[in-house]
Amino acid sequence: MSTRESLKRQVCEAIDARRESIVEIGESIMDAPELGFKEQRTAERVKQTFEELGLPFDDGLAITGVKAVLRGAKPGPTVALMGELDALQVPGHPRACRETGAAHACGHNAQIAGLLGAAMGLTQTGIVEHLAGNVVFFAVPAEEYVEINYRLDLVKQGHTSFLTGKQELIQLGQFDDVDMAIMIHSTSPDVSEGSVGLSPSSNGFLAKNIRFRGKASHAGGFPERGVNALNAAQLALSAINAQRETFRDEDCVRVHPIITKGGDLVNIVPAEVCLETYVRAKTADAIIDAAGKVDRALHGAAIAMGCRVEIETVPGNLPLRNDSRLAELFRLNTGEIFGEDGYRDHPHGGGSTDAGDLSQLIPVLHPVMTGGSGAHHQTDWHIADHDAGYIAPAKTLAMMAIDLLHNGANKGHEVLAKFVPAITKDEYLDRQNSIFRTESFDGGS
Ligand SMILES: [Zn+2]
Repeated sequence: MSTRESLKRQVCEAIDARRESIVEIGESIMDAPELGFKEQRTAERVKQTFEELGLPFDDGLAITGVKAVLRGAKPGPTVALMGELDALQVPGHPRACRETGAAHACGHNAQIAGLLGAAMGLTQTGIVEHLAGNVVFFAVPAEEYVEINYRLDLVKQGHTSFLTGKQELIQLGQFDDVDMAIMIHSTSPDVSEGSVGLSPSSNGFLAKNIRFRGKASHAGGFPERGVNALNAAQLALSAINAQRETFRDEDCVRVHPIITKGGDLVNIVPAEVCLETYVRAKTADAIIDAAGKVDRALHGAAIAMGCRVEIETVPGNLPLRNDSRLAELFRLNTGEIFGEDGYRDHPHGGGSTDAGDLSQLIPVLHPVMTGGSGAHHQTDWHIADHDAGYIAPAKTLAMMAIDLLHNGANKGHEVLAKFVPAITKDEYLDRQNSIFRTESFDGGS
């Protein structure tokens, strides 16, 4: 009878033996970045590896997702190990795609390398004989919430129902057979104090696409005949800023609008001005409260200038809740790699992820691990330490799967027994669908 520790050792040795190909996967994806719902080549790379490992898989899930399953010898829970396929748009990044500006400035290439490394370790050692339950290797699309108009068009054309990958996969039922899900996000010493760690929670959000419609006129000759949409937008930004003192500290509200179109020509009174914003907060109620204040600010600005404002509200991600029992397993396993001092508890995170949506339904773990250099979403970001960035996540994912499914999956069953979902899948879908709203408010009537 193999002990848990000897199984883990075998798998880590198998991963070490494939170090070169795991690093090559991470680096080659770094050099072929693709934006969300367009990750065709990255998905091909994933499929090629699954084929080499003899793992059956489904593909084309939420457009580009790929899901393989490794079945244990006995029945038990299904643990999904996840890696995100998509890049960001950072055109100034030295390894950005010349045509699209896409760049792996958030380390998702390392997630795929880690996921496939874990798949190599778990499939090549024959240790499934000792597991009760299944391991799903899930390459998931479109985590970054970007190109909002492109994705809204996908929704309008019926290609998707939501704007990010895990939301779409939940709606498609692709997590119905998954009991818990684990992924590891890269970080760097430049942004994270501890090399390895996790926040208990992070913010959720919704997004708004805003268009002020005024009236064009000659800016020098007849400005009095125009309605200046840029002035309305400026008033709206001031009114949103005036709300900030009403946001409670404990709700961690972050509203960060940008102007995406400021006018057409300098000698014409701006007739169309566009903004985008996220409204983020720690709880769903705080998001709704802050979003209501943003709407009021937009309406007020439209009334002041006598123009129209169109507000398209789109569901973002729900707040992340990291499962504390999975977190403890992560801490113990990473201690084997980075030493006990490597791990740090992080505070509540201001950012957001669609792993948050999933964490409302099943136990989820979304920690960070070092290996990167530079800052996320910036031109200097890359995986500098290949062992920490690519190999350590592969080993940690594989070791956690063994912990959860070895010995009759007693740990996996314990995680499930103690977990309380925040909402059901149907409630989740209703809540997110209820956020979609298009409003046209006439401040001039
Ligand atoms: Zn990311």
